[in-house]
Amino acid sequence: MDRRHFIKTSAAGAAGLAVGVPGAEAKTKTGKTPLEVKGYVKEPARRIPVVDSADVVVVGGGPAGFAAAVAAAREGCDVLLLEREYFLGGLFTGCGVTPIINMFHLLEDGSGRQAVFGIAEELCRKLDGAGMLCYEGIRPKVDPEAAKYFMEEFCAESGVRILYGVQAAGVTRTGDSVDSIILEGKSGRVAVRCRFVVDASGDGDVLEWTGEDFTVYKNDIGAMWRIGNADAAGKGNPTPVKGVRTRHTTGEKDQDGLDMYNLTRIQLKLRKMMWEEVAQLRLKPGNEDLYLVDTPTVVGVRITRVLDSVANVTTEGAATGKVYKDVIGVTGGESNLKFNGSKILTRDRKMWQIPYSAITPRHVPNLLVGGRCFGFEKELTYDAREIGTCLLTGQAAGVAASLAVARRQSCRDIDILDLQSKLRAQNVRWDL
Ligand SMILES: Cc1cc2nc3c(=O)[nH]c(=O)nc-3n(C[C@H](O)[C@H](O)[C@H](O)COP(=O)(O)OP(=O)(O)OC[C@H]3O[C@@H](n4cnc5c(N)ncnc54)[C@H](O)[C@@H]3O)c2cc1C
Repeated sequence: MDRRHFIKTSAAGAAGLAVGVPGAEAKTKTGKTPLEVKGYVKEPARRIPVVDSADVVVVGGGPAGFAAAVAAAREGCDVLLLEREYFLGGLFTGCGVTPIINMFHLLEDGSGRQAVFGIAEELCRKLDGAGMLCYEGIRPKVDPEAAKYFMEEFCAESGVRILYGVQAAGVTRTGDSVDSIILEGKSGRVAVRCRFVVDASGDGDVLEWTGEDFTVYKNDIGAMWRIGNADAAGKGNPTPVKGVRTRHTTGEKDQDGLDMYNLTRIQLKLRKMMWEEVAQLRLKPGNEDLYLVDTPTVVGVRITRVLDSVANVTTEGAATGKVYKDVIGVTGGESNLKFNGSKILTRDRKMWQIPYSAITPRHVPNLLVGGRCFGFEKELTYDAREIGTCLLTGQAAGVAASLAVARRQSCRDIDILDLQSKLRAQNVRWDL
């Protein structure tokens, strides 16, 4: 019996939270496939020291968390940005994923119309000014090291406090509200108090801990990586750094991105594949000096938990360019989209708006979601998690969080016109 089969058929006691129906994929309230339990140990109850507090605590420093933190700090909030790695950018900089998709929208003549503005545009301008941005078609493509550096600069300038090397591991609550986030780091297990939380963990970790509604989507787990002295080889896509190019592998299809054994297996396999591919490329005369610049430090999970929000963006909404009263931004549509039984090609796509209701949870009053775990239908997976879109939803979550804090309101009660006017002031646009 293989491990997964055992999991699906194991007793409810071992699976603990299993709620799946027979024949369906194993499901739990956590979104995780239950592990094969080999026994239990008892952790003694302990008091967790509170070591910090902030108006807005942002969990995860990927593109969405970065934008959320900067946006909230610019609105005057004290912001603490929690990140388990020691750099910002998440998959963007840690998985070498540097073409910013959906920032522009492809027009019929092959040119691009800018869709995402705000912090995304500011970051691109900074990178461009430093010679660290080039274009791959209509996509701005940046150097990951430069992006890490400038994201930290934006945080410093806006007063965001970054805490690196901390894995957020849970929450404490009063009623439905989150009081504190529990962290594990080199200083031990500690807590930070918060008035408001933005879940920008990519995987919707806070959704799990708060019991908020979500669905787990599966997709490919893959990688992007960089090769040097590669211009002569002509393999991969150029980057702003001379001689350095990127390679991409879609990876394995339909993968569970919340299973640590699966993630480890895939990361090991992909790294081996990258080394072997580079060795192959070097065999070709003229490519002897080609080398592997880096492999991803972050495993290339495309999607896991997605918020069942107040109103998820529907495929129809994105396909038809629906206009929302509570719009918080508009994004490009840089992938083919299946809708009503046919495929809309990228060149025929419309730009699509994102409403505030799609980043808003149904139950927790002091939580919003930014990035690839906001609420959208599965068909939109490719579009909704692109970096341009993540920067957009992150910025909106940050501004909305600041309003909720200032007015002592639930995320579901804030004034949409106020939010939109603050977003406009931060140069966010949503004209179709
Ligand atoms: C192989 C691959 C290729 C891609 N190609 C492109 C592309 O060409 N262009 C494009 O625009 N997009 C691309 N994407 C998608 C894009 O990179 C991601 O969807 C985007 O980075 C998601 O941003 P995010 O901020 O929502 O989450 P993430 O980038 O995943 O960031 C989440 C951050 O939260 C941190 N974190 C998570 N959990 C915790 C926790 N519990 N405690 C503390 N920190 C935590 C993580 O370390 C990470 O830094 C690609 C993705 C992959 C995997």
